[in-house]
Amino acid sequence: MTHSSECSGMVVAVQANFYQVRLHPVDDANQPQYLLCTRRTRLKKIGQKVIVGDWVTIEEPDFQGGRGAISEVLPRKTRLDRPLIANADHILLVFAVAEPDLDAWQLSRFLVKAESTSLSVSLCFNKTDLISENQQKQWQERLSNWGYDSIFVSIKHQRNLEKLTEQLTGKTSILAGPSGVGKSSLINYFIPAGSQRTNQVSGKLQKGRHTTRHVELFDLPDGGLLADSPGFNQPDLKTHPQELELYFPEIRHRLAQGSCQFKDCLHRHEPHCVVRGEWERYDHYLKFLEETLAYQSALQQRPDQESSLKLKTKGSGQQEYEPKLSSKKYRRQSRRSKHQKLQDFYENNLEED
Ligand code: GDP
Ligand code: ZN
Repeated sequence: MTHSSECSGMVVAVQANFYQVRLHPVDDANQPQYLLCTRRTRLKKIGQKVIVGDWVTIEEPDFQGGRGAISEVLPRKTRLDRPLIANADHILLVFAVAEPDLDAWQLSRFLVKAESTSLSVSLCFNKTDLISENQQKQWQERLSNWGYDSIFVSIKHQRNLEKLTEQLTGKTSILAGPSGVGKSSLINYFIPAGSQRTNQVSGKLQKGRHTTRHVELFDLPDGGLLADSPGFNQPDLKTHPQELELYFPEIRHRLAQGSCQFKDCLHRHEPHCVVRGEWERYDHYLKFLEETLAYQSALQQRPDQESSLKLKTKGSGQQEYEPKLSSKKYRRQSRRSKHQKLQDFYENNLEED
């Protein structure tokens, strides 16, 4: 229940121990209001982290001073580790059709990574001013064979941007794609520099936007939030080999029509496989599969107790693991569930500061 001395909102930026919270509801003029908040000690004690995208309760907000303290984090609908963000529901992948050249492998890699998050995925191609209509059509058809509808735009010539607005309105979206494709131009188009809240946060904390890789959420003019995605730009494929099939629409389609003889078919050389065949990205699938298999075997070779062990080189040159001296921090963590430890590991490794 929300008391008069409480309000709620969404964390839109995190820097050091400060959280910029966008209040809900917005004021009469429909202008978002923000409070710069700290986190209650009680939350620190129970190990409750606060990340961008979290819905939080603020106790005794000081609206005039623009300050508050976060007392509660509401359950997360979704959570990504790279970028570290809660409650996002959509990934907008941006690529350029030229400058840099559109590389099908790279595109495929981003798509698979995006699909693996369970968020909805849409695709936007920028710089259509640099190619012919015919070339654009060819890409469009190719992508449609991969199972994707795509939006072709030119930010420079403001072409087709209303289609993009439609895709983003009412959602919390993460913008991702290689560098040089026009992501910053797109953010500047939707969120003119003058109204970018970052400057205010950064001013207060004396940190410029470019000194941080933290993800931040920006308000879109027609409703919805947009996050730039540091950390998503070099997608790794740390997925389970058996799951890779889920991240290709072409495979999902084939498996909906029929099934392979073996339940655990990896769709390589197995007999009576309905996936293996003459489709364009089958090669991509095989290559990514090798990568996920290599990742899995590397994981299996690593001792699970790695975090509590340190590698010691003995006089003979032999190496062996021995327990670390237990620090206070470690003893505290060891009481938590394995899951919580894993979460902390990600957060501690991804949150700077
Ligand atoms: P980011 O690295 O993805 O953030 O890409 P930027 O937004 O910095 O854009 C990279 C370059 O592409 C800049 O020189 C932009 O001016 C240029 N650019 C952005 N959009 C377009 C476009 O629609 N057409 C053309 N020709 N160039 C564009
Ligand atoms: Zn198969």
